[in-house]
Amino acid sequence: MNSDCDVLVIGGGITGVTIARELQSRGRQVRLIERGRIGQGCSLGNAGWVTPCFAMPLPQPGMLLKSIRWLLDPSSPLHIHPAPSLTLARWLWRFTLSMNRRKMLRSIEVLTAVSKYSLEFYSELASRAPQALSFEKRGLLMVSSTDDGLASARSEMELMSRQQIPGRWLDRDELLAFEPVLKPVVRGGVYFPEEAQIDPLEATLAIAREFQALGGIIQEEHEVFDIECGPQGAITRVRTTQGDFKPALVVLASGSWSPGIARKLGLSVPILGGKGYSMTLNAARAPSKPIMIVERKIAVTPFPGRLRIAGTLELVNQDMSISPARLAAIHRGAHEYLDLTGTGTNHDPTPASAREIWRGLRPCTPDGVPIVGPSSRISNLFYCTGHQMLGLQSAPGTARLAADLITGATPLTDPAPFSARRFE
Ligand SMILES: Cc1cc2nc3c(=O)[nH]c(=O)nc-3n(C[C@H](O)[C@H](O)[C@H](O)COP(=O)(O)OP(=O)(O)OC[C@H]3O[C@@H](n4cnc5c(N)ncnc54)[C@H](O)[C@@H]3O)c2cc1C
Repeated sequence: MNSDCDVLVIGGGITGVTIARELQSRGRQVRLIERGRIGQGCSLGNAGWVTPCFAMPLPQPGMLLKSIRWLLDPSSPLHIHPAPSLTLARWLWRFTLSMNRRKMLRSIEVLTAVSKYSLEFYSELASRAPQALSFEKRGLLMVSSTDDGLASARSEMELMSRQQIPGRWLDRDELLAFEPVLKPVVRGGVYFPEEAQIDPLEATLAIAREFQALGGIIQEEHEVFDIECGPQGAITRVRTTQGDFKPALVVLASGSWSPGIARKLGLSVPILGGKGYSMTLNAARAPSKPIMIVERKIAVTPFPGRLRIAGTLELVNQDMSISPARLAAIHRGAHEYLDLTGTGTNHDPTPASAREIWRGLRPCTPDGVPIVGPSSRISNLFYCTGHQMLGLQSAPGTARLAADLITGATPLTDPAPFSARRFE
């Protein structure tokens, strides 16, 4: 079957559904294709944070030495798979070049803009579907027990106050009174009161439903396996396992799998899969707010009736294997800082009690900013991918930016840092 269509969005994660909905709401006729089911990629089991206070790119000054130290530690929060490849070498080179303060500040500015927009978006989405969405504004606590962690929390509070994101410093006693589930090992931290959380799958499905209600078409179990280009440098046919499409515009929103699809067009998209894990627990006690344990890079999210702990960034590309050592490190780390058993001890330090273990591949660009913009080489290709650790909290904002660029409206924020030209 060959179907002509106006816009074809490839990928049914949070990025794909938000851009599809945004373009459909602006009068385009959008078809979204997904190789599996909607929301079952990286958008499934993440920590659910919609926290503009974390609008930080992955590369930051001083990370190089830390990454080298962490390289061979099986329980470190960041791990770079040492298997040598040209792709990895190129990615790491660009990553290293991005570890400077000027670049970081510029990235923070635009990532904050899209994250703030997303926070508003989810709040409105939840008010339209209150039964279907567990959106809550509980704020967010960053806690630390080390000199390095405390310095990093303070620096983040200062950086974010420049973006008008308020945070309040708390010393150990204030923290323990504020969040009694914390153990005395914590020495200080920051409370950001305006941050929110949402169940990521519920959010993705709710947006997909709104897209369909606007007249958009979703086709699951459609895997793109080839793309053909005509002599004019435009895509003429997208081939899927369930038939072909001839779209006027293709939006690439397939997360960590975007490079493989772009390669069909002779394009090299520098996105590596950054594997992370989450465990959903039936904890006896849970904190009242989401918590980031700074030095362990562990995110703890209390959802109604369950607790999710998440962490680790392993630059592995497509490897979906599960590392017991990393799961144990996340679980142990959470129990070291939080009394989740009500016993005050480190009881239950293994992930055996997790009711669900999940891993996902964060689509990581080397400069930590998603790619949102038209291809400079293929006239009807538009990128909306590479949302790294912030896909849930930035996708509605990048969808708005993408739709602004596609329809010629005033862009939500400066599009230059997102441009595909930085790689193509
Ligand atoms: C442990 C962990 C915790 C996280 N916590 C947070 C958080 O608290 N807040 C936050 O903002 N972000 C968080 N993230 C990051 C966030 O999950 C990602 O940035 C986001 O899910 C990326 O969304 P996406 O739509 O780009 O990719 P995906 O959700 O992976 O969607 C891509 C889709 O493309 C489809 N696809 C791939 N190839 C093809 C093909 N050939 N044909 C058709 N379809 C195809 C896939 O099946 C998939 O459904 C976390 C990530 C991890 C791993």
